[in-house]
Amino acid sequence: MSVNPNQVVLRKTEHSGTDHNSKVWVLRCGRCGICYGANSTDAWERKCPNCGGGRPGLPIPLEREGEKWNREELVIAFNLYNQIPFGAIHMRNPKVIELAAVLGRSPGSVSFKLSNFARLDPSLQARGIRGLQHGAKGDEEVWHEFVQRPDALVYESAQLLGARLGRSVESVAEVDESDLPPAGEEREALVRLRVNQSFFRKRVLSAYEFRCCVTGLGATELLVASHIVSWAEDPANRLNPRNGLCLNALHDRAFDRHLMWVDSDFTVHFAPSLHESVRQGETPLAWLLGFEGSHLKLPEKFAPDGSFLREHAGRCLALAR
Ligand SMILES: [Zn+2]
Repeated sequence: MSVNPNQVVLRKTEHSGTDHNSKVWVLRCGRCGICYGANSTDAWERKCPNCGGGRPGLPIPLEREGEKWNREELVIAFNLYNQIPFGAIHMRNPKVIELAAVLGRSPGSVSFKLSNFARLDPSLQARGIRGLQHGAKGDEEVWHEFVQRPDALVYESAQLLGARLGRSVESVAEVDESDLPPAGEEREALVRLRVNQSFFRKRVLSAYEFRCCVTGLGATELLVASHIVSWAEDPANRLNPRNGLCLNALHDRAFDRHLMWVDSDFTVHFAPSLHESVRQGETPLAWLLGFEGSHLKLPEKFAPDGSFLREHAGRCLALAR
């Protein structure tokens, strides 16, 4: 028997349910996203208590609440820290609630843990934002492990979360699988790459609160986590969010083709050749260039690193000559 396709099993617990011989399973509604407890005996026909007219959910067991966080839990939580804006770290955030349901902890203790990661984040420390005190040593170890080998840790966190949810790494990291080869070494290498790319995208977009830093455009489908110094040129900074900008697809292309750059005072400039095209009658381009001289909308964390911007601008100016 399988579960109602709209209701996903997040976790099966050993807690007794309210029906004879039943255990509590933690379900998540695929439509509205709420998490709730259900009897294992009727999970297969469960309707969402919130949007499907089902019976109220059972309390979600908190077996791990008050227990010391282990490395696996920290690695999974660290991944989430990188996917939500700083201002959204609170116990009402649906992603915080979901992770709490997965771990068997309260949303409050998950948000407390994410705030501890913020305390270690140099980009927030630089702005005088302090997270909570009493950070556990484990938090710091995971943070430093990530600094030392980001690629490996990002992949591992997707694996760990996937193992808990009974889902593939590809699905947990929301990787496009349509053009991937079937199982094998080549596929695994590509999946690793895409898990990292997906992580970089989430990290940059969430830092900018899902808005283009030039235009303010907020349609997520049209946004790109653009590398300042290209991915191929600087492997060490592939996952560095300070080597990223959140741009709409068209400005991203202009930036990538060295037709747009950002000054050290964070003002935006376009290549003289594009301005010339507008003068020659290419009027639709005027929208793109209308942001000449405007100021970048900087994120609360992971503001772009000036040295990357200078390197990119230098290349653009050399090409414009
Ligand atoms: Zn629902």
